[in-house]
This record gives sequence, C-alpha cells and structure tokens, in this order.
Amino acid sequence: MDRTKIIQYGDDIGKVAYIKRIQNKSVRISINGKGEVKVTLPYSVRFSVAEAFLAEKMEWVIAQRAKALGRKVLTEGNVSPEEQKKKTEEVRRLAHKILPERAHAVYELMTRKIIVRNSLGLRVKDPFRYNRLAIKNNASNWGSCSSLRNINLNMHLVELPPELMDFVIAHELCHLVYRNHGPKFHKMLDAVVDGKEKFFNARLRAFRPK
Ligand SMILES: [Zn+2]
Repeated sequence: MDRTKIIQYGDDIGKVAYIKRIQNKSVRISINGKGEVKVTLPYSVRFSVAEAFLAEKMEWVIAQRAKALGRKVLTEGNVSPEEQKKKTEEVRRLAHKILPERAHAVYELMTRKIIVRNSLGLRVKDPFRYNRLAIKNNASNWGSCSSLRNINLNMHLVELPPELMDFVIAHELCHLVYRNHGPKFHKMLDAVVDGKEKFFNARLRAFRPK
C-alpha cells in the first residue's frame, strides 16, 4: 500500500506531500517555514479524500504559504506611487504580450477537445471563436464576455499561476456558448479542465482582482 503521494501544484501551492501515518486520527495540513505543504492522513483515508480536503482549505493554504515565503498573494504594499506606476506598466506590457497568445492557445485546445451541438443535435462550427480581445486594468473581475463575442481580460491575470490564467480564459470562452452560469456551463468548463473546475475555483478565490 502506498504511504506517500507527492503532487506538484502551481507556484501558489508548490509540491504537496500526502503522507499516511498509523498514528494519525484525522487529515491534517501543515506548512513549514520554507513554505512546504504536508498533508498527513490516517491509513484508512484515501488519498483522493485528502486531496479534496486540501482543495477546500486552499484559500488558507495559499495565504499561509505566501506568509511563510514572505510574499504577498498579489504583489502590492508599501511602494511609492512612482514604483506602483512602473509596476502597473510592467504588468500591462506583460499582459499584452502573454494574454493574446494564451487566449489563442486555450481557444485551440477547447476547439479540439469540446464538441458543441445545437438544439437540433447538429455540430456548431467554431463555437469558441471570439472577435476582439481587450486587456483591462480592472478591479472587479478577472474577465468578461460580451454578446458581440468580445472578450475582456484583466491584465493582472499574468500575476497568477499560468494554469489559473488559462482557467479564467476558458471560463470566458465557455460564455461564448452559454451566457449564464447554469449547469451546462459548468459541465462544459469542467470538461475543459478535466474535472478540476471546483479545485481551480477554490484556488482562484485565494486571489483577488485588484
Ligand atoms: Zn462567468
């Protein structure tokens, strides 16, 4: 029987060691001073249960780890207005370089992976095609999608772990097919990310758009 399972998450969580121990009575998460995350569990508990437990506590884990590493969850703090302005310009430049490429890559992946059918059961051609991609310095959301098939993305997405950036893009591209957050929308997005929608949403909640 496996005693240890290592999972490599993104930069926000790092490598997590799941360790089964006879003396453990419950699932516990610990984070040491180096920001290493360890989950200990009793022998009787399946690893998948411990992984789900970690996903539930994700917000706390990311915040604790950032603290241990002396990082801010999103870099900000006591910087001068000039420094802040410079930082904002850097992020904007990076966003204009990276986000159009990522959006196109996510579009291509979804086009290959997801078949969309209309109410008559006919295959919809190019369901994830978008028109204009705009990059905004937005405090209220990570992204949005208009009825004209235009996508807006928050430039601060480039400060997130790459898989979360792609996840937000996939969320917006799913809105090109379903405008609301109904069950069909979630089913589609979950299929794009191989059943990890809940997990990614939990991680995303640890970050705030600013
Ligand atoms: Zn949405």
